[in-house]
Amino acid sequence: RADRLQAFRAAIAGIACSDDPALLEAKSRDYAWYSPVLQVLLDGKRGELVVRPTTEEEVIRVAAACARQRLPLTVRGGGTGNYGQCVPLEGGVILDITGLDRVLEVQPGSVLCEAGILILELERAVHAHPAVPGGQELLMYPSTRDIATIGGFIAGGYGGTGTVRNGILKDPGNVSLIRVVTLEEEPRVIELHGADIQKVHHAFGTNGIITRLRLALKPAVDWVHHIALYPSYAGALRFGCQATEAIGTTLDAFLITAVDRRFAPYYESEFGHRFPPDGDAVFAMVNPACLGRWRELMRQHGGRETMALTEPELKAQGLSPAFECAWNHTTLMALRQDKSWTNLQTVYPWVPGQGIDIDLVQRQMDRYGDEVVMHHEFGRNADGCVSFGLPLVSYFGKERLYEIIREHEADGCLVFDNHVYTIEDGGMKTIDTAQIDFKKVADPHGLMNPGKTRGWLPAYARP
Ligand code: FAD
Repeated sequence: RADRLQAFRAAIAGIACSDDPALLEAKSRDYAWYSPVLQVLLDGKRGELVVRPTTEEEVIRVAAACARQRLPLTVRGGGTGNYGQCVPLEGGVILDITGLDRVLEVQPGSVLCEAGILILELERAVHAHPAVPGGQELLMYPSTRDIATIGGFIAGGYGGTGTVRNGILKDPGNVSLIRVVTLEEEPRVIELHGADIQKVHHAFGTNGIITRLRLALKPAVDWVHHIALYPSYAGALRFGCQATEAIGTTLDAFLITAVDRRFAPYYESEFGHRFPPDGDAVFAMVNPACLGRWRELMRQHGGRETMALTEPELKAQGLSPAFECAWNHTTLMALRQDKSWTNLQTVYPWVPGQGIDIDLVQRQMDRYGDEVVMHHEFGRNADGCVSFGLPLVSYFGKERLYEIIREHEADGCLVFDNHVYTIEDGGMKTIDTAQIDFKKVADPHGLMNPGKTRGWLPAYARP
């Protein structure tokens, strides 16, 4: 291995490269520590070299050298994934993609950019670009917007802030082009368009190095970051369901998140009286043009407003944006103070016109007491409205965790297991054959992020 690493280094001379142990340690980790189960499985896994190309030509040189030396390669963006997506299970080369950070073209309705740009920087660039008066905005971003890359979001993410208005990444039109470099002795550059982007989206960097993307944009809105408190969690959920159904007709919002009052102590230093423990909260980002109607619906459900500020106003007061109180950030808020928590990712069946079964959520709250603390995200996908549960779960061991998962499944919830590192086990439990077929083209030696897909068998083991 040492000889091959040396030959690799010689072949990429001139490209930033390091084997500094502290850097390797840092670049071999992500946010998998959310899961005590993954912590054990991933302990000690480390890459052997970090390379940081800054152009596509340099990425091609790295890919060629890896293929020739048969070295595993793991692409890394911001390293904010929750499932060990960019932890190198078999060592090898870590390709830090953050040097490819250019915005290449902004048009009304779309942006072409490199994959390593931070989502925050991309958002700033499309806001400021004169293609559309008043600027444009991304359709969605993870709550890690400020530290995650756009390529990492497409390769490892799902949806997030903006999903309640614009659907999930996978929905047609949201991502219209993905350009990848293959991991071959003579790498090729392949552009995927339209439905073909699914071959690489959410493939955890197992089938090609994404270098460029084209994403849809909409005219920018100066969203109002809003908190309202409700007399019960059921009331907060009822408001959330009704508001979600109304997005696109009478209401417009970029985020709707219901958070159980038992989260309040974890938010105290940040929000104080805006989220005291005597109410269940809905965090939202609301279009100022419909704030009146939003407040009317809030009052109908017994809600009272405790915050309504734009992002610049929040910053001036030292407050966090509403999206940092949502998605996986709620768990982070709790984990910062108490490491005994972990979480689950669930989906509740949605009945059009009614929303989710709130009595079921109440029964689950009664069943688990303080062992599980509720949090629901509201969104939509190509099929309609949807609600994701991201409850905090007190960790009493793997056996108990999986008992709770099975009980949620028996309740009719879909569980996306966030305590595993393979694509399939964390998702729909089925192998995406289109992604595997594309891997045969883009990574014929099976070197990319090895171990992250159950669908890939080494040549000798294939039927
Ligand atoms: P990384 O973690 O660096 O990489 C993710 C995966 O993509 C890895 O498998 C990596 O190998 C691969 N990859 C990265 N770049 C490339 C590339 N150029 N080519 C090929 N493969 C590549 N996720 C959501 O979807 N929605 C959320 O709302 C959300 N909220 C979060 C909140 C918190 C507090 C945390 C810790 C995580 C959250 N996540 C969320 C997960 C994660 O932050 C996002 O998916 C994020 O966009 C990942 O980007 P990244 O640059 O950090 O990717």
